[in-house]
Amino acid sequence: MLTTKLADNAYDVALENFDAAADALQLDNDTREMIKYPERVLTVTVPVRLDDGHIHRFEGYRVQHSMVRGPAKGGIRYHPQVTLDEVKALATWMTWKCAVVNIPFGGAKGGITCDPKRMSPGELQRMTRRYTSAILPLIGPEQDIPAPDVYTNPQTMAWIMDTYSMTKGYPIPGVVTGKPISLGGSLGRNEATGRGVFYTIQSACEHLRRPLKGATIAVQGFGNAGSIAAQLLHEAGAKVIAVSDSTGCVYNRNGLNIPELILLKALSGHVEGFPESEAISPAELLALKCDILVPAALENAIHAENASAVRATMIAEAANGPLTPAADRILESKGVFVIPDILCNAGGVTVSYFEWVQDEQHLFWEAQDVYNRLEHVMKTAFRDVLKIHLEKKVPMRIAANMLGIGRVAEAVQLRGIYP
Ligand code: NAD
Repeated sequence: MLTTKLADNAYDVALENFDAAADALQLDNDTREMIKYPERVLTVTVPVRLDDGHIHRFEGYRVQHSMVRGPAKGGIRYHPQVTLDEVKALATWMTWKCAVVNIPFGGAKGGITCDPKRMSPGELQRMTRRYTSAILPLIGPEQDIPAPDVYTNPQTMAWIMDTYSMTKGYPIPGVVTGKPISLGGSLGRNEATGRGVFYTIQSACEHLRRPLKGATIAVQGFGNAGSIAAQLLHEAGAKVIAVSDSTGCVYNRNGLNIPELILLKALSGHVEGFPESEAISPAELLALKCDILVPAALENAIHAENASAVRATMIAEAANGPLTPAADRILESKGVFVIPDILCNAGGVTVSYFEWVQDEQHLFWEAQDVYNRLEHVMKTAFRDVLKIHLEKKVPMRIAANMLGIGRVAEAVQLRGIYP
């Protein structure tokens, strides 16, 4: 349902964005050589006995882009379109993202090319455990800490935590974040990404002196990130007029009842057929006249061919890499205010950091404490990025990359080169 231009390679986009920010920082070539590329790239074979008795080989990846500022951190994606280049791009963005919110992690990402919607729970569990076993030499609470991403969830994290712990011989909850609460997960982690998106939208509205109450919003992708952002925006009095998932898009110009839509999605697995809504196409959703567009699905949703149709005046990138550089240029020329992904969706990794801290300390926080700390981190990061945007007169994406890349550059310069 995405109007995705598949030709845009996410890793090329990540490198192009790096170069633009490194140029703006006037970063020297030696530092660029040290921080631009992934430190480790692992491809693994994941053989799984399917329910019909035969063995299918899946391909999986774990990429550690950077451990300059701390252990590598990043989610695991299960999707038919997962490629090594996509995982490299997502790992690269994780490095700059952790630095933007100033948490002591580097960047990583993992994925398996598979279609989880066509797999049984048993098949998913066997695939997850075998994949964990294959990447086991790389991961660990002090090394590399996976988390959920597209089509993985707390249950997936529980299987990874169990496989890792059984191999080591004792429970090690800190090996993953986004775990169920009963296994050492953090209150507030499940809604952290959407909540962070909400806080950055609040900050952007304040900066632009536009009211959030009554603002019209379209959300592409109604999963963890998109649905929670929609829920909080709805609670704040904004009108969420359209949402989509991989099966369809629903629209109501007076605003959708988001709590009921979340219930429908939980019960039926899709948003299609929601009462008091009309069906529209994915292209129509992106081109809706609205105040804020929230892409919360996959990369390259808005590209050279459809960016000029966008009529929103603000884009909040809940997804990673939803705008191509060509789209960025078109939207910039139209004066659209973009909250870039490495700032907008950093709430997930921020509360993952809180979860890891709690696991390491065996001491757990109240939900309100998590929300307060998250709000502080997100709003501070927004202010830091905005300051660069205004002072250097660069787009918000370049400003965010300058902040993140600048912090990693400083760390690598202090550490020096080994040997
Ligand atoms: P999810 O699996 O919970 O939800 C994905 C949603 O996108 C589903 O509703 C699905 O139906 C929809 N979708 C998939 N393909 C689509 C398409 N072609 N058109 C429209 N909708 C489509 O995943 P998520 O965790 O919400 O991740 C969504 C995005 O947010 C990804 O880019 C992910 O990297 C990013 N993100 C997630 C987190 C997190 O903590 N979950 C953190 C940071 C960034």
